[in-house]
Amino acid sequence: MKRVSVLAVVVALVSLAAGQEKPAPARYLRCGALFQPESGQMRRNVLITILGERISDVRENAQPPAGAQVIDLADHTCLPGLMDTHTHTLLQGDITPADYDEQLLKQSTAYRAILGTRSVRRALEYGFTTIRDLETEGAGYADVDLKKAINNGVIPGPRMKVATRALDVTGAYPLSGYSWEIHVPHGVQVVDGPDEARKAVREQISFGADWIKVYSDRSYFVRDDGVLDDIPTFTMDELRAIVDEAHREHHKVASHAIALNGVHNSVEAGVDSIEHGNYIADADLKTMAAKGIVYVPTLFVGEYVAKGRPKVWADMLQIHADTFRRAVAAGVRIAFGTDVGGFDWSINPAVEFPIMVKYGMTPEQAIRSATLTSAELLGVEEDAGSIAPKKYADIVAVKGDPLQHIELLQQIDFVMKGGEVFKSAER
Ligand SMILES: [Zn+2]
Repeated sequence: MKRVSVLAVVVALVSLAAGQEKPAPARYLRCGALFQPESGQMRRNVLITILGERISDVRENAQPPAGAQVIDLADHTCLPGLMDTHTHTLLQGDITPADYDEQLLKQSTAYRAILGTRSVRRALEYGFTTIRDLETEGAGYADVDLKKAINNGVIPGPRMKVATRALDVTGAYPLSGYSWEIHVPHGVQVVDGPDEARKAVREQISFGADWIKVYSDRSYFVRDDGVLDDIPTFTMDELRAIVDEAHREHHKVASHAIALNGVHNSVEAGVDSIEHGNYIADADLKTMAAKGIVYVPTLFVGEYVAKGRPKVWADMLQIHADTFRRAVAAGVRIAFGTDVGGFDWSINPAVEFPIMVKYGMTPEQAIRSATLTSAELLGVEEDAGSIAPKKYADIVAVKGDPLQHIELLQQIDFVMKGGEVFKSAER
């Protein structure tokens, strides 16, 4: 027995040594053009060298060694993998309350997670190699499991940061409108008071939350002076406790804040990102720029859900466009986020890009928001968000020039994540 095991160890060591002598061969990606968001430059005829899951070299007019494995994208523009920092992989569209209630009342978490596997595959195929999933809408911690399944190679999907259950106060979040005698599920973890809020943050982090998400306002109405007003949900004590607890545990806070008070209170409490922000007062934009609080505008979803909602949602569109323009002018950092899941996953979230350009960003700025700025918001800028040595080989490509035709980003036909090709332009 002993002799056999010694022999086995020797064999294992020899094969390990042999394995070390032969590292995985470098692979090459030839891009007709390559957009670099960090410089705003479009480079021509670029050869990217990939070792394992990372980029090792990026060079113009270079030739790969003879016999090397080359992916030829000479007629494509390459870009860093896109990032959507506001998704709901476990939600499949909710224009009306009925759409939402149906999913929470008639679909088990297991079934919703199965649908979620389709959402994450679609996200990757659209060209989003990283997403921040901003709460499961009643599906518990299923986002943590989706992330785990992707990281373990069980299912295809983007890199994920997840927010798990989100927080709101009693009476503020659906399901609502049912008889008081019936206990219905809620799309959030309901907390009241700073202590309960603090405990929920601890609990969510212990079960795998990367981010803490709060709903800071509700019940929107347009005042006579055109300001979009609301009912703020949390007291300042509650909001401050949540931010303090999350930050103490080195986690960031995303705040759903659509209107005047929700945004103002969130900014005052020191959250890290303002989600939606249909109306933001100039003074709050100024504070956001100064404190580095990131704006995630989610413009498309507003147009999409307005069709099936009360009139105020249609009124909010113009207010949103105006806020977006003021935010760009004020120098607020804007990350790309769409709220996909709020609209159906069969719609490519890249539909957001032309709207950002329509409302005042250059195509370069819009792409930068979906790459570098999003990477900074997620704290992954050392690993992703640009195409450079040592970063993950998260690379997408499209035929044509997205700086001339930003809508082309809805037709990405090559997707690589961590050096692995998930969608191939080659036939
Ligand atoms: Zn959302």
